[in-house]
Amino acid sequence: REKAEKFNFQTEVNRMMKLIINSLYRNKEIFLRELISNASDAIDKIRLLALTNKDELETNPELSIHIKADKENKILHIMDTGIGMTQQDLINNLGTIAKSGTADFLAKMQDPSKADGQDMNDMIGQFGVGFYSAFLVADRVVVTTKHNNDKQYIWESDANSFSIVEDPRGDTLKRGSVISLYLKDEAQDFLEQDTLQNLIRKYSQFINFPIRLWTSKTVEEEVPVEDEKPVKEEEEKEKDDTTSEDDVQIEEDTNEDDSDKPKTKKVSKTVHDWTLINDSKPIWTRKPSEVTDDEYTEFYKSLTKDTSEPLTHTHFIAEGEVTFKSLLYIPKIQPSESFNRYGTKSDNIKLFVRRVFITDEFNDMMPNYLNFIRGIVDSDDLPLNVSRETLQQHKLIKVIKKKLVRKVLDMIKKINKEEYEKFWKEYSTNIKLGIMEDPSNRSRLAKLLRFQSSHGQGVTSLAEYVERMKPKQQNIYFIAGANRGEVEKSPFVERLLAKGYEVLYLVEAVDEYCISALPEFDGKKFQNVAKEGFKLNESEKSKNKFEELKSTFAPLVKWLNEVALKGQILKAEVSERLSNSPCALVAGMFGWTGNMERLAMSNAH
Ligand code: ADP
Ligand code: MG
Repeated sequence: REKAEKFNFQTEVNRMMKLIINSLYRNKEIFLRELISNASDAIDKIRLLALTNKDELETNPELSIHIKADKENKILHIMDTGIGMTQQDLINNLGTIAKSGTADFLAKMQDPSKADGQDMNDMIGQFGVGFYSAFLVADRVVVTTKHNNDKQYIWESDANSFSIVEDPRGDTLKRGSVISLYLKDEAQDFLEQDTLQNLIRKYSQFINFPIRLWTSKTVEEEVPVEDEKPVKEEEEKEKDDTTSEDDVQIEEDTNEDDSDKPKTKKVSKTVHDWTLINDSKPIWTRKPSEVTDDEYTEFYKSLTKDTSEPLTHTHFIAEGEVTFKSLLYIPKIQPSESFNRYGTKSDNIKLFVRRVFITDEFNDMMPNYLNFIRGIVDSDDLPLNVSRETLQQHKLIKVIKKKLVRKVLDMIKKINKEEYEKFWKEYSTNIKLGIMEDPSNRSRLAKLLRFQSSHGQGVTSLAEYVERMKPKQQNIYFIAGANRGEVEKSPFVERLLAKGYEVLYLVEAVDEYCISALPEFDGKKFQNVAKEGFKLNESEKSKNKFEELKSTFAPLVKWLNEVALKGQILKAEVSERLSNSPCALVAGMFGWTGNMERLAMSNAH
């Protein structure tokens, strides 16, 4: 250990460790989730490298995770055959926090309202500070690691500082890492087989590599009694690398009266073995009819690190121009900007090719307005042995994206009424942006829109509005404003309401832009009742009356236009849109409405 080089943790790492240890002391077990997920990431990485360079796997073709408790020495080992770390990797990855999101994370943690255990738990996973959670249960952590491009190194830390030394034993690992946790006295339970087995099951159900735990069990065996030679010796000769036996006890056979049969003895012995704990068959490759709702929920949680269940999901196989499997979710709550992979603009879809994880950093699987969708896509038709960059350019990616969007819109359409209210509360702006950004899906998106209206207090769909339209009504009427109270009282709508027409109230900033991007719904054009050119389809009698009024007031209109308001307005005219108010300011056919001006002004400030 003399040659060991000593390092100090970056200040941020120290702060991070303190935060983790202070906030998560009631939830220590998550260390195992974090270390297993790191092991799985490391195996993903070597497998990805091997796609373009087969030699990478030659050092060890096995891709798996092994966990072993050494009760005698109070050490828990988590071993993987992943990519391993070079000496430089050790310094960079386990000593600094290179990620841009960390500052955000620390800032958020300073906010006392956020710094409770549950939030902390969520954030740790999302911000990728998982490794340091090892210090929740260990006072000493030793990482032994071998990367294909470097020698084997030992990283060791007591959470205050760390050291790195070339392994004096040489390269004992073919490739990969062993994380050895010297457990604190109060964390000894993590050496117990049952505890480990349950935790691994809980946290690794959806890890796509086999996880094996070193287990012991007592088995009883009938062995024939041939001579006086003790059985123990024989058994011991048959030991192999993976299975070992000890604590052999010999019991007398109880069936003593059965004298015809050859004499046997019951032997109970303890057998150690690597026991497979998880089912590494990916959930999306299973038949939808054979996956339970619970499994979908659990997979969602492990995929997103979200603690609540998703609003809904869709699981399908697309066939045709390209075949792929996909499992997509809508989170209950819109992932906030800083949570959303901390500002990197990527979407949240993980791409697999033939079950091999490729990336979650493509921007090409979902359009911007659907970047809240979480899930996976797995295709057999994409090439495996190309770089990510080449894959990203592949023509099938566009085809996949197009299908994904359709499937997402289908999934949203199928949400039941009650749940849809929740969906709309979270994602209305996304759908409205979609209307503006995605012309090819405009009519599908239009069916998802909801607006307040003069019909009742809730929101209405456009289809429901159209159903309630008066027999001769040509247009869908709307008015835009800052809030319901304002637009309800607007003189523009009073006559319409008096005559029993329904008016949509567009009270969100984005609404009027959204409707401007929508030429029609179900063949009906939209009519902004605050714009010029708005006419009601009235009877002959009232048309005549309107003409009469026009001529009666012609001198007043002339005076307003040429004298009183000259230069201040475009024009004055007699209107049929009012019933109680004497006059109203109307926007020109191609002019800005008062609401648009209000929004433009507030944006400018
Ligand atoms: P994250 O997993 O989000 O990157 P962690 O704190 O869990 O953050 O891990 C930090 C980094 O340490 C990882 O990004 C990875 O580069 C490295 N690392 C951790 N565990 C392993 C491992 N078992 N094999 C290889 N690299 C690892
Ligand atoms: Mg991690």
